[in-house]
Amino acid sequence: MLEPLFRSVRSFKGVGPQLGTLLSRFFGAPDGQEAVGLDVLLHMPSGFIDRRKMTGIAGAYHNQIATLKLHIDKHQGPPQGKANVPHRVFAHDETGDIQLVFFGNHGGWVEKLLPVGEERYVSGTIGFFQGEKQITHPDYVVEPEKFSSLPLVEPVYPLTQGLSSKAMVKLVAQVLDEVPELPEWLADRTLKHNDWPGFTQAIRTVHRPERPQDGDLVSAARMRLAYDEYLAGQLALLLVRSQVVAARGVARTFTGAFTARLEAALPYRLTDGQRAALADIFADLSSPNRMSRLLQGDVGSGKTVVALMAMAAVAESGAQSSLMAPTEILAAQHFKTLAPLCEQVGLGITLLTGKMSAAERRQALEGVASGQTQIVVGTHALFQTGVAFKNLGLSVVDEQHRFGVHQRLALSDKGSRTDMLVMTATPIPRTLVLTHFGDMDVSILAEKPAGRQPIDTAVLPISEYGRVVSRLKARIAEGAQAFWVCPLVEESETLDVVAAEDRFAELKKVFGDEVALVHGRMSASQKQAVMDRFVAGDTKVLVATTVIEVGVNVPRATIMIIEHAERFGLAQLHQLRGRVGRGSERSACLLLFKDPLSETARARLETIKGTEDGFVIAERDLELRGQGDVLGTRQSGMPGYRIAVPDVHRHLLQRAHDDAAQALIDHPGLTGERGAALRALLYLFRKDTAIALLRAG
Ligand code: ADP
Ligand code: MG
Repeated sequence: MLEPLFRSVRSFKGVGPQLGTLLSRFFGAPDGQEAVGLDVLLHMPSGFIDRRKMTGIAGAYHNQIATLKLHIDKHQGPPQGKANVPHRVFAHDETGDIQLVFFGNHGGWVEKLLPVGEERYVSGTIGFFQGEKQITHPDYVVEPEKFSSLPLVEPVYPLTQGLSSKAMVKLVAQVLDEVPELPEWLADRTLKHNDWPGFTQAIRTVHRPERPQDGDLVSAARMRLAYDEYLAGQLALLLVRSQVVAARGVARTFTGAFTARLEAALPYRLTDGQRAALADIFADLSSPNRMSRLLQGDVGSGKTVVALMAMAAVAESGAQSSLMAPTEILAAQHFKTLAPLCEQVGLGITLLTGKMSAAERRQALEGVASGQTQIVVGTHALFQTGVAFKNLGLSVVDEQHRFGVHQRLALSDKGSRTDMLVMTATPIPRTLVLTHFGDMDVSILAEKPAGRQPIDTAVLPISEYGRVVSRLKARIAEGAQAFWVCPLVEESETLDVVAAEDRFAELKKVFGDEVALVHGRMSASQKQAVMDRFVAGDTKVLVATTVIEVGVNVPRATIMIIEHAERFGLAQLHQLRGRVGRGSERSACLLLFKDPLSETARARLETIKGTEDGFVIAERDLELRGQGDVLGTRQSGMPGYRIAVPDVHRHLLQRAHDDAAQALIDHPGLTGERGAALRALLYLFRKDTAIALLRAG
């Protein structure tokens, strides 16, 4: 039924090999594949040109787009030898006179287009020249009997070099003719509640609305299509989830041997949030279903110890755990934190790194294979090279947001009964959680461990530099330590370094040997040496580029100064500020900006000043950046939307999620009439992974 929509664009009229290749690239067809009709169908207009104003010449105003029915009176070509003077066509209707102006009339095509004595519909922008109304190069000239071919509401499509609007419109028209009537996949109540049209009507309307408002972002037609797209995405994620859960897990039982001792060994009490998250996790682990849980928490909220307790519980049940970090540095950091605790309670833990000698690696792997080692820490890459566990029970993945659902599926295939716990590095807005992790259960660590002091955040113009430095000097004299972060210069590391070096030279005049510099161009060992001196307190002010953003832990540093703060993103500012406020001393963060501030830069700085709550900041970031990618650069396996514009449509997402869940309860395996309709929806939005799961199931 949907086959016509999956025909290559090349099978449509007017598309040769060249345009075909261009379209395949434009629509992002996978390598070696061609764009298909469906790609064209789901390519939404970005707006509409309204040509409906047909009030006659007298009622058409300067700079307006008007459509006129004109009687052609006379042509006047340029005088001999003056090719730069335009060709003028004089015309009238019952309300007045107008001229149509053409430059470069070679070969007499204007005479053919507008024959004297005949009538033509002409549409274009009204201009004035020497007090006379005129249209220069009309957009459309059509004969009266072909009036219907003139698009009174003309869609404007996002285009690319070599792809004309005319070609796109022609292609869309052909594809629209191929759209079959499809069975309704939306629930009755959803349709009625929103007063939405069916899919086919909706798609026709957004491409060819009678009025611009019938096809714009908030029109019923576009809302319905956005909802369809969300629904397809949620359905796909939930199908993946049911697949993961259906491969049954292990109902684990715990002795409390390790966890109780661990808790006693911790130098602090677990927060209520940590306890609640652990209760979720233990319930999952002891149920016969497989766990697929996302642990969300702000930087410093204490996710690591939650993971450790989970792994300890799994060890009690006689199974092993892996903890995967995205980089070697983070893996090593985890190991450094966990190893002493594990040692105290008698848990076997090992770190797998790329730097190990063959002998070391062999020995480590032996411990894993024999079951002697209960916890293995390493990078994703290392685990992919094949680690044979005696009995892997739990995979913990840190900073998973670099992963897509495909990678998660692949991971969960490894040990088919393995439970999975995913930890994100930073809070993720609710809508993005649904979009990217809709297949998982979620636990949230909302509160920070007790005893953390709030950070005083101030926003100041750089013209206050002198005062800032003298204040800083006073604080340093009292024993404080400070970070001074220098700006990103147009994404160029070289220029960053120059800016940091300049600032370093300035501050050296005041602080002498107490100020140090660290930047991304230094070697790892150089960086480490500078950091070590700062951590030891030998230097007091550390001038840095954003290299300090990740992983630096200097509890004694209580001052964070960020220069050109307006150039940083919200998440980055939040991360940077998170470098202070880690000890029991009260900390301060100074955001120095340079005028003039853009609206969004001002809003960003206000947000950072106003809250330390990473969840609030993440939501605000999403709002300010619009469709911008809060999760970092777009990763493979991450869904991108073609129709839904999150800024406008995200309120529909939760509802789509709930509807998808209900549909799978009512029609497991998507069988029956509505099930078949929902399968068509999955095909339309190319949810191939999910479809493959249905076939297998
Ligand atoms: P993140 O969630 O960013 O991974 P970590 O797990 O690294 O956070 O924890 C941040 C810091 O908070 C660590 O130094 C850790 O020892 C400490 N911490 C964790 N839980 C608590 C707690 N309940 N009370 C006090 N400090 C805690
Ligand atoms: Mg962490």
